Amino acid sequence: MSVSVEDKLFLNRYQVDEDSHIRILNQDICLQECENQECLYICPANVYQLEGDRIGVHYEGCLECGTCRIGCPHLNIEWRFPRGGFGVRHKFG
Ligand code: SF4
Ligand code: SF4
Repeated sequence: MSVSVEDKLFLNRYQVDEDSHIRILNQDICLQECENQECLYICPANVYQLEGDRIGVHYEGCLECGTCRIGCPHLNIEWRFPRGGFGVRHKFG
């Protein structure tokens, strides 16, 4: 039986911190200067979502892959690893 990516992601478990480990530094840059809004497409967990006139950050689902740290052309994302004990725990199998 084949296993889909969605099935594999479902195996992950999260310990969610109240404090986001991801922050957009300047929403004005996102809306006025960022032509392609890459963060909406490069994140495998769809953490970044266009919500009206701002980019929402649903950090709870972050897989800690690091893509958005280098993918934002304006270096407008502040990212750190979640505090110890928080974040994603990958399970395989
Ligand atoms: S890629 Fe960077 S500047 Fe562009 S919308 Fe996303 S966070 Fe904002
Ligand atoms: S680190 Fe990876 S999963 Fe987390 S928000 Fe950035 S691109 Fe998405």
